[in-house]
Parts: sequence; structure tokens; C-alpha cells
Amino acid sequence: DAKANGRNRRSFFEPTMEQHVQSKDKMSRELRLALRNDELDLAYQPLSDTDAKKIVSVEALARWTKDDGTVVPPSQFIPVAEETGLINDLGIWVLNKACARAHDWPGVVVSVNVSPNQFKHPRFVEKVMAILAANNLPPERLEIEVTESVFAGRDDTVLNALRRLKGLGVKVALDDFGSGYSSLSYLRRFPFDTLKIDRDFVSDMNGNPEAEAILVSIIQLGKALGMTIVAEGIETIDQIRFLQAHDCHRMQGYFISRPLTSTALSQFLENFQAIAAGELPDGFELQAQ
Ligand code: C2E
Ligand code: MG
Ligand code: MG
Ligand code: MG
Repeated sequence: DAKANGRNRRSFFEPTMEQHVQSKDKMSRELRLALRNDELDLAYQPLSDTDAKKIVSVEALARWTKDDGTVVPPSQFIPVAEETGLINDLGIWVLNKACARAHDWPGVVVSVNVSPNQFKHPRFVEKVMAILAANNLPPERLEIEVTESVFAGRDDTVLNALRRLKGLGVKVALDDFGSGYSSLSYLRRFPFDTLKIDRDFVSDMNGNPEAEAILVSIIQLGKALGMTIVAEGIETIDQIRFLQAHDCHRMQGYFISRPLTSTALSQFLENFQAIAAGELPDGFELQAQ
């Protein structure tokens, strides 16, 4: 009967719900400890010009390897950090680490992903400036990547913080453009320095006229607005040729390099420079991919 069904349904669903809540709870506790115990690290993925002559910047990407060797991907722990407020401490840790490391790579801009919640922290801009000062890094060497979600809601807190950072010389990039509910009006609401076209457009392009047309239009639009255009997720030489033909400024993706440890990045930069300068024979492997 209905009563029995109801009871059955409850007993069927409740454990799953609890498990879900528990694991998120568990992850947030573990993440807090990981942050304290230095289990987190940063990987760095280089971005080059489309002629592949120069590495212009590196994107810092958070990494978490547990004691037992389990790797937790950022797609899992960043959302948990955002929900629990831990993103503030984590974000400060990332900024500190990236700005300290930047000295190993002169002339290379370091990009850091920043979640909208971090801007809600009243003294976020001051904290960023304090981190730059403490690490003796000029603001121009730091780029902040935000996604379209910064435009959600009516509150202008995030945009105001971005305006202040930009005014102080920090670069600001719009990340994953086109992946969410992109609106072209966003591009009028904030003068981004950099526009990063989501890798979905890049991976769809191979021979797909619609995807190609959209990609070309975004490149043109972004350039008309004076932004530096980055194509994300470059994995093939054909994609590079296409970007070159359409004068895209920069590219990022496994074809250039996967995210690297700081040590591996230093080596990569050396090899890359030597290849660009013709000091190494053709076919020399930049890295084991
Ligand atoms: P994102 O900012 O768009 O970072 C680029 C992601 O694409 C990275 O994944 C990178 O490894 C991946 N990727 C780069 N090139 C290629 C390619 O050619 N092919 C494919 N298939 N993938 C490529 P990752 O490191 O797993 O990061 C995922 C997301 O996690 C990031 O996306 C970013 O939104 C978030 N994230 C990572 N670190 C942080 C952080 O410190 N703070 C915040 N707030 N978010 C972070
Ligand atoms: Mg990013
Ligand atoms: Mg991105
Ligand atoms: Mg993306």
C-alpha cells in the first residue's frame, strides 16, 4: 500500500543522500587538512604566441595528491572549497605560491584562477596587493582569470574589485568564454585584457563550418575590442594552422604542453627558447607528453 511504498522509498533514498553529504563533508575536512599539511601543489601550463616562438604566460592550476597517492581533480575539490568557504584560504595560498614562483620565470606572466566568492571577501584586493608586495612582484606580472559567473546577480562587488585590480596594473582575463550562458554584453561591462575562448569551440572546429565560423567571429570581435585572444585546448597541428590563419594571438593546450611541475616548467622554458632560437635540432622533444 501507499504507506509501505512511502517507507520503502524513504529507506531507498536516504542512505544515498547521507552518503553524498558525508563525502562532501569528508572532502572539505580533508581539504582543510591538506591545505595545512602542504598536500596541495600547483601545476603550471604554458601559453605561447600562435607562431610558437615565445612562452608569454603560465596558468597556475591547483593540484591535490592525498597521502595514499590518490589524485583529486580540481573539478571535484574546487566546487567543495567554494561551497564551504575554504576557497578563500585556498585562493590566498594559490596566489602566494604562484607569485613566489614567478621569479623563476622572468618576463613570464603568471595567471591565477579566482572564484567569484573570493571577491566577496571584503579585503580581497588589498590581500592581492599585499601578496604582490611581499613577493616583490610587479602587478603586471599577475593575471587573474575569472569566468562569466562573475556577472551573475545584480551585485557589482566582483566587477568593482576587478576594476580596482586592473587600475593597479593586474591583468584580467575572461576564462572559458562561450562555455556558459555567454552574453556579448558582458564584454561591454568590463574591459578584459584577455579573452580565453573555451576549448569546446576549439575541439568542435575540426572541419565543422559552424564551429569555425563562431571561432573566427569571436577572434575578430575580441580583437576589435582590443583584447588579447587565447584559444584553449589546442591539441593538433591543424588547430594551430587554423589559429595562425585567423591571427589569434595566443594558444594553450596539450600540444604546446600539459600542466607541469615548477621544475619541469623551468626546463621546458629553457628547451623552448633553445628551439625557437634554432639551437636544437628539429624533432627535439620538448617533453615526454
Ligand atoms: P581552466 O581554468 O579552464 O583550466 C584549464 C583546464 O583545461 C585545466 O584542467 C587544464 O589541464 C585543461 N587543459 C589544458 N589544455 C588542455 C587540452 O589541450 N586538452 C584538454 N582536454 N584539457 C586541457 P584542470 O587543471 O583540471 O582544471 C580544471 C578547472 O579547475 C580550471 O579550468 C579552473 O576552473 C579550476 N581550477 C584549477 N585550479 C584552480 C584554482 O587555483 N582556483 C580556482 N578558483 N579554480 C581552479
Ligand atoms: Mg583558467
Ligand atoms: Mg580556461
Ligand atoms: Mg576551459
